Amino acid sequence: MHVVILGGTGFIGSALARALLARGDTVTIPSRAPRAAVVQGIVHAPWNGRDPESLARLLEGAQAVVNLLGENIAGGRWTPQRKARIVDSRVAAGQAVAAALGARNGGGLPTVLVQASAVGYYGAWPDMATAPRCGEDDPPGTGFLAQTCARWEASSAPAQAMGVRRCIIRSGVVLGTGGALARMLPAFRAWLGGPLGSGRQPFPWIHLTDEVGAILHLLDTPSCSGPYNLAAPQAVDNAGFTAELNRAVGRPAWLPAPPAPAFALRLALGELAQEALLAGQVAPSDRLTDSGHTFRFPTLRAALADLLAP
Ligand code: NDP
Repeated sequence: MHVVILGGTGFIGSALARALLARGDTVTIPSRAPRAAVVQGIVHAPWNGRDPESLARLLEGAQAVVNLLGENIAGGRWTPQRKARIVDSRVAAGQAVAAALGARNGGGLPTVLVQASAVGYYGAWPDMATAPRCGEDDPPGTGFLAQTCARWEASSAPAQAMGVRRCIIRSGVVLGTGGALARMLPAFRAWLGGPLGSGRQPFPWIHLTDEVGAILHLLDTPSCSGPYNLAAPQAVDNAGFTAELNRAVGRPAWLPAPPAPAFALRLALGELAQEALLAGQVAPSDRLTDSGHTFRFPTLRAALADLLAP
């Protein structure tokens, strides 16, 4: 299969490209800064993230598209300019995918589109004890992330009317050798990693291997379409995640790290802290597992042991 991965230079996309290559598939990665490195089976192509005509040409011969493109949400305080980039990069790419597919309609269309989203779709819940179990049929929540996810998901929706099977992945925090874990580890290794605020907010997580495995499963399974929560079966809150990560880096349980006060996080990071650090979602992946996907790392302890192995 030939797969076009938008956002294929990123943390998840590059792991997905490696996995596709390992099983004999080929990949095109459109990018603002295409890599020069030559890897057999991967074509890097210049693309500005929004132009449908050049994207339509890149889709020539592709059986699948995976759209992971988006400005990083954790890149700093959500100023109006950063918020605009977070929304606009995602909506522009989704609309470009739909328009590029439309331009190719009748001339050999990919059969499947995997569209990224996030569990933030369901809103920001500050306490795991009272947070709802969010299922894929639930409506979007309130707040910037929820509204961004709703617009992001809608951006490529016209692909469905063209008969393209569209799967939406609502991911939790992806744990791998990069991404959020790489940003957290220095503090935890210095024994400075405490819970954030009350520590009661849900912390939906998924190992990168399972994130990639789920995307491959959705690409390969013709009966799959629509939204899928991607979060590991073991639901934890922020304090539970913090305790497990401290254990994994060797900090003794009798020496707990002090929490980072919520007011200080809000002062430093504003809305980003309020929605992404001091709140979370409980979003079980029942629909994904019912469709036949098995998690390789269902527990946080096993996931961290794998990721922190020397
Ligand atoms: P990365 O930030 O690692 O990669 C995102 C990619 O998008 C980059 O490779 C970049 O490609 C492209 N990009 C970024 N900003 C822009 C922009 N302003 N205009 C055009 N292109 C842009 O993301 P991840 O791999 O971590 O995540 C992939 C997607 O999954 C993201 O949309 C993210 O929101 C979502 N997600 C990620 C989670 C996680 O824990 N990592 C959790 C839930 C959802 P290039 O620079 O080559 O053009």
